Amino acid sequence: MSIEKTVSALGEFQLIETLFSRLVMADDKRIIKGVGDDSAVLNIPRTQHLLTTTDTLIEGVHFNSDTDPFILGRKALRVNLSDIAAMGGVPHWYVLSLAIPSTTSLKWAEEFARGLDEAGKRFNVSLVGGDMVASTGPIIITITLNGLVGEGRAIMRSSAQVGDRIYVTGTIGDSALGLAHRLGRVKISDAHHIEFLKHRHQIPEPRLSVGKMLQDTAIARSIIDVSDGLVADLEHICSASGVGARLHADKVPLSDAARAVLDGDDTNRMMQMVLTGGEDYELIFTASADIADAISDITDQTGVALTEIGEIVKGESVVTVCRDGEPWVLERGGWKHF
Ligand code: ADP
Ligand code: MG
Repeated sequence: MSIEKTVSALGEFQLIETLFSRLVMADDKRIIKGVGDDSAVLNIPRTQHLLTTTDTLIEGVHFNSDTDPFILGRKALRVNLSDIAAMGGVPHWYVLSLAIPSTTSLKWAEEFARGLDEAGKRFNVSLVGGDMVASTGPIIITITLNGLVGEGRAIMRSSAQVGDRIYVTGTIGDSALGLAHRLGRVKISDAHHIEFLKHRHQIPEPRLSVGKMLQDTAIARSIIDVSDGLVADLEHICSASGVGARLHADKVPLSDAARAVLDGDDTNRMMQMVLTGGEDYELIFTASADIADAISDITDQTGVALTEIGEIVKGESVVTVCRDGEPWVLERGGWKHF
């Protein structure tokens, strides 16, 4: 019987050295010092503002013991990248805090690092430091990602204006449906649809190129990324901006797979799942009503569909969901931890 090697066979510093210290983009001249000293040292250009964001994933809460660590590594970094996209910024550097039981297999750590490597190379970001501790409980992964945006150019949630149109990137609901299928809460028969929805749940696509273009062209007044759910995250824009919103459920863009699910039984419940399920990692943004040409330019250049789904109206932090022009009261809100 072969006994699987654990992380303790390598030890903390060997692990950092062999798995994590190489996850760095060689051409990044702004890294004065990455992994290997008491702090990373980064050269921030004078005309830029630093963006910083963090996300934690806990075994048993966000993922299971049997979750593929390669996928987990990719997702852990991608959800942070989505937050930088939602400010209109460019991501550059991240630090990783990893709490793992000493019995964790070396293979798990290797695969997790390989997932980070894949996402890092794809989106051009470097690991510049972190922390590694032995956990007496679950695996806890915290990534803090830094990015840059031109001075005064970060796009906040708080600047939506009455009369703005509301747009969303890509398609909504795939991730929630993918998860619901895995949990046995939705029946889907088409194997391609199942695969597509599963992928959308596992590997979010941070909309960095759209976020950057919205910022460069100064089109978006406000942006947020959809982590808690379309309605809940639109509510966050509303409360930060002191406005209300009308969201037309029939205009929300759906993938073929999601459309097929909605065409089945239980349309009402499935539509609510789409609107509130979360983890879409698409961008919601608001823009003045006269920018139709600019919108199609962005789609042409990024290949990402942008769909108008509603408008900002007077009112305090209220999202009115409409279906067939009539207000529709949902039974469920967005995702909340507490
Ligand atoms: P210190 O004790 O000074 O905080 P550590 O001994 O914890 O430093 O870490 C040594 C170096 O390795 C530091 O540069 C730190 O940023 C880096 N590091 C530690 N853990 C990780 C990790 N999981 N991923 C990347 N770098 C790490
Ligand atoms: Mg130190």
